Amino acid sequence: MTTRSTSQKGIILKSTAEIDLMRRAGALVCKVLDHVCALVVPGVTTGELNAEAERLIEDAGAEALFKGVVNPAASFPFPAALCTSVNDEVVHGVPGKRALKEGDVISIDCGVRIERFCGDSARTIAVGSVSSKTADLLRVTRGSLELAIGEMKLGRMWSEVATAIQKQVESAGMSVVREFVGHGIGQEMHEEPKVPNYHDRSQKKSDFCLEEGMTLAVEPMVTLGSCDVMYADADAWAIVTKDGKFAAHFEHTIAMTAGGPVVLTAA
Ligand code: MG
Ligand code: MG
Repeated sequence: MTTRSTSQKGIILKSTAEIDLMRRAGALVCKVLDHVCALVVPGVTTGELNAEAERLIEDAGAEALFKGVVNPAASFPFPAALCTSVNDEVVHGVPGKRALKEGDVISIDCGVRIERFCGDSARTIAVGSVSSKTADLLRVTRGSLELAIGEMKLGRMWSEVATAIQKQVESAGMSVVREFVGHGIGQEMHEEPKVPNYHDRSQKKSDFCLEEGMTLAVEPMVTLGSCDVMYADADAWAIVTKDGKFAAHFEHTIAMTAGGPVVLTAA
């Protein structure tokens, strides 16, 4: 089994056999997210959710990709298998003693490697009942990922997909986060290319054409207010909205096959 490179910016294309291996990683990520999302109720702590995820990943003989990741802005390596980002936290929330409350939202992101290949997926879910605005945020963000998958046609430029995501989100009066984007994925969690959820002139140079064998983590991050984000000073990992408004994050690992996009992190 060999990997091929395209002329496109160091993007590593995967063979059908490699994509089949990535299905295993994707299926495990899906199983972990199904399991921990079902445990989300008022009172549960983010640390308890992480402990369950770690148990499932270990039982499967897989590697938790986020654990040990080093971030120059943080004083410690990422200590957990899940990122648990609550309310105004967009991504990279560190699991711990925080207990979820009715009306919160939690974004749960999980990445694993098994049989050399990685899977990466995230979902945002409501804790108990939430405001209609919050419910809209989850619906629009999930919908923007579904829209993106529908738009991912072989031969199409990514900027067309990104523009569609951005239009859908902004027409709902919400914003797309710029500072964090999706990515290629394979034997490494982060490969080329960068996969943004918006498009402007600054993105032109890094645009790419969707090709058979590409495996991409597509992950729109959407906010109810402005798109500006910053580090929360609490733990130096979590990224929060500057205006304190809620954020949501949905992610799938997707393979471009001869038959079109295949979601590897869905049941
Ligand atoms: Mg992720
Ligand atoms: Mg990702």
